[in-house]
Amino acid sequence: MERIRTDLLVIGAGSGGLSVAAGAAQMGAQVVLLEGHEMGGDCLNYGCVPSKALIASAKAAHGQAHSAAFGVANAHPQVDYAAAKDHVAEVIAQIAPMDSQQRFEGLGVRVIRDYGRFISATEVQAGDHVITARRVVIATGSSPLVPPIPGIDTVPFDTNETLFALREKPEHLLIIGGGPIGMEMAQAHVRLGCRVTVIEGDRALNKDDPEAAAVVLDALRAEGVEIAEGAMVDHVSGRAGTIEVAAKDGRVFAGSHLLLAVGRKANTERLNLPAAGIETIRTGIRTDAALRTTNRRVYAIGDVAGGLQFTHVAGYHAGVIIRSALFGLPSRARTAHIPWATYTDPELAQVGMTEAQARDTYGGKAEIVRFDYAHNDRAVAERRTAGFIKVMVVKGRPVGATIVGHQAGELINLWALALANNLKMGQIAGMVSPYPSIGELNKRVAGAYFSPRLFDNQTVKRVVGAVQRWIP
Ligand SMILES: Cc1cc2nc3c(=O)[nH]c(=O)nc-3n(C[C@H](O)[C@H](O)[C@H](O)COP(=O)(O)OP(=O)(O)OC[C@H]3O[C@@H](n4cnc5c(N)ncnc54)[C@H](O)[C@@H]3O)c2cc1C
Repeated sequence: MERIRTDLLVIGAGSGGLSVAAGAAQMGAQVVLLEGHEMGGDCLNYGCVPSKALIASAKAAHGQAHSAAFGVANAHPQVDYAAAKDHVAEVIAQIAPMDSQQRFEGLGVRVIRDYGRFISATEVQAGDHVITARRVVIATGSSPLVPPIPGIDTVPFDTNETLFALREKPEHLLIIGGGPIGMEMAQAHVRLGCRVTVIEGDRALNKDDPEAAAVVLDALRAEGVEIAEGAMVDHVSGRAGTIEVAAKDGRVFAGSHLLLAVGRKANTERLNLPAAGIETIRTGIRTDAALRTTNRRVYAIGDVAGGLQFTHVAGYHAGVIIRSALFGLPSRARTAHIPWATYTDPELAQVGMTEAQARDTYGGKAEIVRFDYAHNDRAVAERRTAGFIKVMVVKGRPVGATIVGHQAGELINLWALALANNLKMGQIAGMVSPYPSIGELNKRVAGAYFSPRLFDNQTVKRVVGAVQRWIP
């Protein structure tokens, strides 16, 4: 057994753990990093990267099939599903060196490829190593939730951990779960030539603004995705190639393959948390605002901390705890400025409050301004006119933005900047956007906030009238 003493022990080499390890090592701390499975974690291997790569294949197929409006004859795309998966694997391989053991060892991090478990409040064991650290960061991520649906153990099913390695094209993919992962994969598969049925117990995309979600759902339905809402699953049955999902209301959905996308569960089982006095809650590890667990020397970040589960949140958490663990400075993780995007087509993006949240919180003080893609010249040129941007404003400052439409995930960046820095609408309106860009939507919605104040304002009219009579 090797005993190791270090400044910082990071458990999990995914988005959060790698960011902490890289930052801390480059700032001079001694860092040990444990990874029991693949370097890069979910995002690189089973999440963001493969999903966006598959979406890119699907977009290529969709473009071929829908080019006639641009004067280019439609073609029936010849999709090679296995080759699309090769593309996914190539994309992962291209990005993997950034997350590799070799790169981190080059940064001076001691990487141990084993699972870690607490054996006391101050010690973690990983294989033949016992590590004692001044500070420990748990960044063990989350896994697909497999709910105890009767029959689930008798049928073959995929999750995000197996889907991207599946090489046979599903003839009819049933997806249980209409959240962002389910909807992204539904559209990707329908565009790649599969039949797709989404089975959702509540409303699909129910964490998003309903008006914006409806734009996405309409688009997916128009492309042929069958979306069954209010279909709480009762049981599943069948075998490879013929699977049935029965809903409690009697509806039965039959397909060839089944994907479970019903949520995530925090990876805490292997950690033996009670040995370190670390408490859990339903969604993950209990943390305070500084991301400290109930053991003061131990932090939890990213998906395992049970809050917003996104790569950029794990990266943000890493910055928060580096400030506190390395510099001993007070630090708090905030959520009000964290954006997220669902990469369907059209995309759906949010930062800060939705319209409903702003009205609940601020009542009549919340002003909602909006601008439609249909009035953006670039969107018209590209025939991407579905969608809108809606900004929630209180006393001249944005408190939230919802965007649904082409490149919404890009457009939300500006509002993430505005919320992070408490910018005013006047600062957004003062920006000059290149014409014709989709990004002009951001400026135009800020303009929509000021136009009634300028154009419907009698004082402004009187002042302009007076000045016009006076100036030579
Ligand atoms: C299909 C899909 C698509 C997604 N798309 C996006 C997207 O577009 N944008 C976005 O922002 N987010 C997306 N996400 C979410 C994103 O992948 C996660 O939020 C992110 O990976 C969380 O990072 P993390 O560091 O908390 O955990 P992870 O990246 O999962 O890393 C945790 C690591 O810890 C390791 N580990 C676990 N237990 C132990 C242990 N005891 N000892 C040692 N190692 C351990 C695991 O093997 C893993 O490598 C997606 C997720 C999925 C499933």
